[in-house]
Amino acid sequence: MRLLVLALLSFAASASAEPYHLIPGAVPLDSGPDGNTIVLDAPQGLIVFDTGRHPEHAQAILDYAKARSRPVAAVVNSHWHLDHTTGNWDIRKAYPRVQVYASNALEGALATFLKKSRAETDKILADPKTPPAVRDQLERGVAVIHHPERIRPNHIVAKSGRMTIAGRPLDVHLAKFAATEGDVWLYDANTRTAIVGDLVVGLVPFMDTACADGWSKALGQIAAVPFKTLIPGHGDPMTRADFAAWRTAYDNFIACGRSAAPEKQCIAGWQRDAAKFIEPDHKDYVNGAAAYYLETRLRSSPEEQQRYCKPLKPS
Ligand SMILES: [Zn+2]
Repeated sequence: MRLLVLALLSFAASASAEPYHLIPGAVPLDSGPDGNTIVLDAPQGLIVFDTGRHPEHAQAILDYAKARSRPVAAVVNSHWHLDHTTGNWDIRKAYPRVQVYASNALEGALATFLKKSRAETDKILADPKTPPAVRDQLERGVAVIHHPERIRPNHIVAKSGRMTIAGRPLDVHLAKFAATEGDVWLYDANTRTAIVGDLVVGLVPFMDTACADGWSKALGQIAAVPFKTLIPGHGDPMTRADFAAWRTAYDNFIACGRSAAPEKQCIAGWQRDAAKFIEPDHKDYVNGAAAYYLETRLRSSPEEQQRYCKPLKPS
């Protein structure tokens, strides 16, 4: 009996009552989004899955840790997109001993995609007509491209398997050539929660650096785990039925994109199939994004369509 009481007391002192804590990422219409952040309790402190883009998002993570009186012991990045990794730097400044886990896909991106966006951003920043608010945002983004050590992992996730992070065992999955060259997602068997980053994005699959077929394969791997709740990279937590509906919407969009159907029909198809996940305010945003991905990823040259299905190398 005494042992049981002690066990209960120690549990009450360290653990949170909720299986996870979600800090939702904003999807503003006038600037880049923040990815969702999910915080898990671990014996050595908090595990933070994705760290957002804007300073307000990073601050919400730091405020939560402070309110819980627990350090951030580990960060896991689903992928290198800056709406999921920029806040790594804010967390590192507050918790210098934090361990950061991610795939090594950032390296190829730095030599290609991010190198190009750095050049474009430097050009906009050099223009005195750039408004101060835009300037602040761009400077925050470009700073981590100039100093990649601020967001770079110190533990590379190179394969799927059980890992112990901050003292907590988790099933860590690596999906290769999906939304990026290496997407990391987690499955927590105790709470039957899948935390999948941008392999699922409520409003529209963000295909900027996507390999459509690799992504489809990753969705099959997610479907194979017995999760009850799935947390996407952007948008609200999903049930299994929600995920199945989203997966069908994804498959239909890719199939339509590769067919001879008019672009408008593919976009309308996405809006219909994914209607449940799209806020009315975001309808136009989704139309624009879907058209862009059709043109750049699904209806571009065969070489371009395969660009992100192999390791990124400087051209
Ligand atoms: Zn994202």
